[in-house]
Formats: sequence, C-alpha cells, structure tokens
Amino acid sequence: MIQSLLSTSALPDSTPLDQSGGSEIGANLEPTIREFEMPSSTMSAWAVSVPGPIDSGPLVRVERPIPDPGPGQIRLRVMACGVCRTDLHLAEGDLPARRPFVIPGHEVVGVVDELGDGSQRFVKGDRVGAAWLARTCGECRYCLSGRENLCTSPTFTGWDIDGGYAQYVVVDEDYAYAIPPSFDDLHAAPLLCAGIIGYRALLRSQLPPGGRLGIYGFGGSAHLTAQIALAKGARVHVMTRSQEARELALSLGASSVGDASDPPPEPLDSAILFAPVGTLVPPALAALDRGGTLAVAGIYLSDIPALSYERHLFQERNLCSVTANTRDDGRDFLALAAQIGLQVSVDPYPWDQADRALRDLCHDHVNGAAVLINP
Ligand SMILES: [Zn+2]
Ligand SMILES: [Zn+2]
Repeated sequence: MIQSLLSTSALPDSTPLDQSGGSEIGANLEPTIREFEMPSSTMSAWAVSVPGPIDSGPLVRVERPIPDPGPGQIRLRVMACGVCRTDLHLAEGDLPARRPFVIPGHEVVGVVDELGDGSQRFVKGDRVGAAWLARTCGECRYCLSGRENLCTSPTFTGWDIDGGYAQYVVVDEDYAYAIPPSFDDLHAAPLLCAGIIGYRALLRSQLPPGGRLGIYGFGGSAHLTAQIALAKGARVHVMTRSQEARELALSLGASSVGDASDPPPEPLDSAILFAPVGTLVPPALAALDRGGTLAVAGIYLSDIPALSYERHLFQERNLCSVTANTRDDGRDFLALAAQIGLQVSVDPYPWDQADRALRDLCHDHVNGAAVLINP
C-alpha cells in the first residue's frame, strides 16, 4: 500500500529527544524518565548475525558504543533510513558479509551532531544524507578518470562500515550529501540509493530524448526512475506482476503496464531491469529495438539463462550492468529530484521493526520504498 506521497507534514526535522539532557521538559519529569533521557554512551542498532533466509531472523538488535567521528568525518543522529533490497541480499547472504555483525542501511538521513577534526563542509544541525558509496581510494585508474563508482578498493556504507539501521552513524563528509529542503526526512531517504542508482541506471540505458523505456519490476527505485524518464519526455512501459505497482505506475504517467515477461506494446529504445531476476533478461532483450540497451540495475541478479545471439543480441542490442554511482551522479540526481518535484511513495516503519520491513520487502508486501523512522 502507498502510505503517503510527497508531503511536508510527515516528520519534523528534529525530534524532541535531547541527548544533552537537562532540558526544561526533562526537569519536570519523574526521576525514572529523566534517567532514561540522560546522555548515554551507547546506542541501539540492528546488525546482521548469521546471514540466512529472512524468516530465520538474521537481523538482530544490538547495543553499540556511539561512534566518534574521525578526521574529515561527521556524526549523524539518524532520523530516517531507507530499506533497500541490497540490505535484504546482505541479511540473506546473497551478498557475502564483509564483516561480522555489520549494521546495514545506506539511505541515511540525519542531523549533524558532531564534527571530526578538520571537518568543515557542514555545521551541527545540518540535514545530511549518507549513501552506499562511503569512500573511494582516489588513486586508482578509475578514480582518476571520473569513474569512482568502479574504484578497485571502495568502501560501502552498511557493508564495509556500519550503516543507518542505528541511532547514530559516522560518515566521511566528502561523501555525504546535502538534502534538498523540499524533501522531509521520510521522503528524502529513498532518494539516496533507490533514487541515485535508478538515475545511474537510466544514464546507462542510454535513453534517447523522447524515447521508449521499458521498466522491469516496479519498486522503490523504479518508481523514481520512471518519473525522471517521463520528465524528460519518454514513453514508459512497466512490466511487473504486482497489481498495486501497476496502479502506481499508471498514476505516475506510464503508457502501459503488463506482466513481468509480457512483451511491451512497442519496441523499446532502452530498458532497465530492477527485479533481481535473471530469467527476465531474455524477454527484456527481445523487447529492445535495434541498437537498444538493457541496463541491469541491481547489485545482485539470479542466473541469466542461455541467450540466443539472434533473438537477444544481434542488431547491436546492448546488455550492461550498473555498479554503484559517482558522487556527481548523486548530486545531479538530488538537484533534478528537487527541480521536478519527484513524488516519493513511501511505506514507513517504526525503527524497531527493521526485521519486519525486510520480511515485507522479501515477500513483495512493500509498494514504493520502505523507510525506517527513528523516534
Ligand atoms: Zn579508486
Ligand atoms: Zn541500496
């Protein structure tokens, strides 16, 4: 279900929780409650214990020290964190864990509450986003040629380092994003991965002006990407088995909706595969016009069945993947999102129900983008 479209009323920009304690409100409370609000050196978080099927409970609650920002870093008090399919792949072990008990979450919207030595890009109180790309080496041939998304030794939020399924997170300020003021925390969170990666997938699909775009799978990322394409004058055809997703696609302006492997009503210049389903690659390639391009947007895809050169690739059809994003992609996308007034369909979950959010995502019970909201 769609809980809400872009609105201005979903969340305040800051919560009444005051970690410094001693506020006037606190002074009037019973001692036990005041004790609860006293500053603490630990925080609650969710971590991946033993990766496995989501119904076996691989995500567990943990108590961790509140992290301190190092040089060039900032600490965010997490207000909202999007739930991405990559988190599910990590919890289930499709994406091998890079370290035990890592805290997932790479669509983090928070308020800067501490600066590391030398950090000067933001000030305390700024609303900032942290995304998947946490750090790159800056020295490899890819970093030096404007392709830092292909860095040979990258660091990723919520995989290599702890992410936003927590009350606090520490990030490098150079890799953080200023959040456009027109988006509240709830609606900004999905922009940081679903939005940015979808935007890069759209670039990779080489959609010509006024072209015909096919979208396979229609969740958090796809519904944002479709709006960018529509704003650029494309005709968009959506292939998904979910009836709710089809209705959302039509309401956003899609020209047609159909079943996941149905041929679209016209040949496609470009297609993006958002569903992590390799068996959809052949029908998506077959749906391309001559010279068309299919971009696979996910970090994980089940095996692709054998392809027929003549039916799937000949006539210069292209098949390509999408790997993370550059910071320029992120900045360009956020500016565009604000400019066209992107409608973000969200499905909010209380922060302490992260495990339920992942289960719902696994069982296709989320329409739009699931977002954890901190109290
Ligand atoms: Zn590099
Ligand atoms: Zn993601």
